[in-house]
Amino acid sequence: MSETIFSKIIRREIPADIVYEDDLALAFRDVHPQAPVHILIIPKQVIVSIDAATDTDAALLGHLLLTVKRVATQEGLENGYRVVINTGEDGGQTVFHLHLHLLGKRSMAWPPG
Ligand code: AMP
Repeated sequence: MSETIFSKIIRREIPADIVYEDDLALAFRDVHPQAPVHILIIPKQVIVSIDAATDTDAALLGHLLLTVKRVATQEGLENGYRVVINTGEDGGQTVFHLHLHLLGKRSMAWPPG
């Protein structure tokens, strides 16, 4: 099991602006927001990346997506939002604990950079 700064946030060893928590997941505001709403949704269990997930993680992955929806509703993102999972070096992943970026309250460009 590899530890990242997100494990410290889960254990409340470093501060974070937590907006949602349940037994399986935690959601907190990104320290370097790329949109007016930028929240990270993470599993409490360490999964390094979506590429490291296995069939046994299927229910947890579904829970994370439904948590995105719950937090988006909580944040008033009725006009839409974007969900991003950066994966590996080419995907721009910098923290190796699976996280879903929830971005909202601005219009998103496509393709992404
Ligand atoms: P990624 O580049 O997809 O791995 O995303 C990692 C994200 O974690 C970046 O958007 C960072 O701004 C964010 N981040 C890093 N450290 C913290 C922290 N202590 N609290 C909140 N967000 C963080």
